[in-house]
Amino acid sequence: MAARSLGYDVHVLDPDPHCPASAIASRTIAARFDDADAATALAERCAVVTLEIEQIGTAALTAVSAIAPLRPGAAAVHIIQDRIRQKRWLSANGFPVGPFRDVASRDESVAAFDALGRSIFKSTSGGYDGRGQVRVDSVDSAAEAWSSLGARPCLVEQFLDIHFEISMLVARRPATPGTGPEMVVFPPARNHHEHGILDWSTIPAAAGAATIRQATEVATGIASTLGIEGLIAVELFVLRDGRLVVNELAPRPHNTFHSTERGCATSQFEQLVRAVCDLPLGSTDVVRPAAIANLLGDMWEAGTPDFAAALCVPAVRLHLYGKTSARPGRKMGHLSAVGATPDEALERVLRARDAMRR
Ligand code: ADP
Ligand code: MG
Repeated sequence: MAARSLGYDVHVLDPDPHCPASAIASRTIAARFDDADAATALAERCAVVTLEIEQIGTAALTAVSAIAPLRPGAAAVHIIQDRIRQKRWLSANGFPVGPFRDVASRDESVAAFDALGRSIFKSTSGGYDGRGQVRVDSVDSAAEAWSSLGARPCLVEQFLDIHFEISMLVARRPATPGTGPEMVVFPPARNHHEHGILDWSTIPAAAGAATIRQATEVATGIASTLGIEGLIAVELFVLRDGRLVVNELAPRPHNTFHSTERGCATSQFEQLVRAVCDLPLGSTDVVRPAAIANLLGDMWEAGTPDFAAALCVPAVRLHLYGKTSARPGRKMGHLSAVGATPDEALERVLRARDAMRR
């Protein structure tokens, strides 16, 4: 939608011919994300190609790169799309991360638990919204976790004592000289998860000046080192002892920055288009504090939610993604609001969401 507003025509590739983006795309190629021929067909008629999901096959990324600029590039996506590779890259490049191990057998799983104690096993790829993760608090459950994740290599992270979660979003462009900054950073978002799924998020996060400075340094360092062209979101944990560690990266628009559509001079979606089309980047100033609350498929179980009730709450907007079936845990849309403070905006989206429940 942001690309359309800027006057671009949009083609999409998605396994589902009725995917949400198909409604505004002038051409939808229904194919798997690892279909190199379909990726070639997409790139042949595009001036630039970007992505909204990092689980795209290497052959498809390479096929696109041979024809059109792929932003972000295949090398960065390759590092990010595998949790083990990503965590190793962060650690090797000196970015702060919590204690972790990668395991490739039942014995290594048990050894990882012995070394790290209470931990989370995460499958290397394909996991999102808390899926593909198992929390482990005993040697027995370590072995079970390994089997339940398919007895395949996985990342084991120590369970961290988190005070609160924030995220950073950096936009970086190919940098045509004389056309403004190469890189801009959005204000940090403060995030709350339930059962591993983002529940709500607000901007700007009141995280303390020193933490924000460090988070900005880490995020811009990651964007530059990876050579990102487009967007990169950096999820961070502020630990109880005050340390800041990187949780994970996403080379695309991020759920925790949907509030930029309401609260910032430039939304993350417009910024993505500007960055990948090598246009001047927009201001990331906060115009008004904002919040979002996610709408999961669970809310549809008792029938279609009462959208009108949500819209009665001042400054609330409804965003539905056009997904045809509601399943528990599936993100169907979100509510957004602005307010005089981030807390007021948050109170509004939470009140609106409660009012929607049947
Ligand atoms: P996803 O790809 O599903 O977002 P994450 O690795 O970001 O997976 O984990 C989802 C959530 O689970 C995090 O936002 C955080 O709340 C919690 N979590 C993840 N890793 C840890 C950890 N090492 N210690 C404590 N909580 C964690
Ligand atoms: Mg995450």
